[in-house]
Amino acid sequence: MIIATDMPEVSRCAATQCAYNANDACHARAITIGEGSDPDCDTFFTNSKHTRSSRTAGVGACKMEDCKFNDDFECSADSIEVGRSDSTTNCLSYTH
Ligand code: SF4
Ligand code: SF4
Repeated sequence: MIIATDMPEVSRCAATQCAYNANDACHARAITIGEGSDPDCDTFFTNSKHTRSSRTAGVGACKMEDCKFNDDFECSADSIEVGRSDSTTNCLSYTH
């Protein structure tokens, strides 16, 4: 069975080395934000190949309970951007 779910869009991602990234956009089906206490992209990984998908990713889950957009461990923003902050790949829409 295919499950259809409304998710906030990942409108941009600057982590071009990630396997799900093509043309500064994320093409995973859904990503998870939050790794430890940081709003990092927990779906990030590198591979010699990159995705061939052209779909736009959604935020499937977010562990950043202290973000103002977090509601019941999910993101309630319209869309988010992912980018580099310090040396990690973060949700730039994170608002403490
Ligand atoms: S949002 Fe996460 S999974 Fe998607 S391309 Fe960026 S780092 Fe990779
Ligand atoms: S905006 Fe906040 S709730 Fe949404 S993914 Fe980013 S850190 Fe999580």
